[in-house]
Amino acid sequence: MAYSREIYEQALDELKRRKQNAEYTASKRRKELSLKYPEFAAIEQQLAETGIQIVKAFSMPASAAEERFAEIRKKNRELRAKRAELLLKLGLPADYLDEKYVCEKCQDKGFIEERDEAEGVSHGVSLCTCHTDLLKKLAFEKMSRETPLELSNFEDFDLFYYSKTKKDGVSPYEIMKDVYTQCVDYANNFDADSVSLFFYGRTGLGKTHLSLAIANEVIKKGYNVIYGAAGSFLRKIEKEKFGKAEDADTESLLENADLLILDDLGAEFSTSFTVSVLYNIINSRICRGAPTIISSNLSLKELKERYPESIASRIIGTYALVNFAGDDIRQIMNS
Ligand SMILES: [Zn+2]
Repeated sequence: MAYSREIYEQALDELKRRKQNAEYTASKRRKELSLKYPEFAAIEQQLAETGIQIVKAFSMPASAAEERFAEIRKKNRELRAKRAELLLKLGLPADYLDEKYVCEKCQDKGFIEERDEAEGVSHGVSLCTCHTDLLKKLAFEKMSRETPLELSNFEDFDLFYYSKTKKDGVSPYEIMKDVYTQCVDYANNFDADSVSLFFYGRTGLGKTHLSLAIANEVIKKGYNVIYGAAGSFLRKIEKEKFGKAEDADTESLLENADLLILDDLGAEFSTSFTVSVLYNIINSRICRGAPTIISSNLSLKELKERYPESIASRIIGTYALVNFAGDDIRQIMNS
């Protein structure tokens, strides 16, 4: 996944902050103990001296240096043992003076050196998973700030506004009661392998409300969720593509979100570019098995007319189709 320069810099700053924080806490503890316990200060002093002695030993002839190194290492081990004993006596944990890194694997450097210990050679460095996780987190946070979610919840969804008058043996009320239950279940059981949903039906039937209620629950579970109108995302990607915006990561963020909610598909201004981007996003998420919720005022027939077969058949063939029925509840609520 590609990120903007700003995100890379923020991640490096954060790693630096973590590392400094770990080192600062450890050194502060050393200083405090040295001030309080002269015995501790003496051990610390001698440990610092072994460091200097090692440096000095480098200038000795090789044969003599070997012996000296062994001596210093032994002294160092004894001092550490003495210090550990003292910590124990003071009732402090054995690792009290260790740097507590957020990531022990890379000690908050963000990189891991691939070393062949047997041969003592380095195979280069790679990004640590803490670093890639951080990049991803920062990029999603930035996107969330740009497209803030006005979250809804399930409690505010009122079935009262849907008619109980049956048509073809079923009422909008009954249909929407099922839809509501389906959405609540979906949110409660959401995970990275959840199915994708296609909400369709006329405007004002609660598609946005229920998709935002799902988003709300899914965010609470700790997943990253991207929500927005299909049209505004496609415009943004178009600007990025043709060089009018500095960041160029919207498309990959949409492809990589744990849950992507594309609202109001069909209302956007369509070009061959937007259609191909839309196809890429939908297709790559299907290939990855990542859940998407698309809502649209189009009927299934209109969806097939409006989009190429490749898009329409992917949605109709792989998404669970959820039909919203009834009268425009916003009109009823306002009348
Ligand atoms: Zn790490």
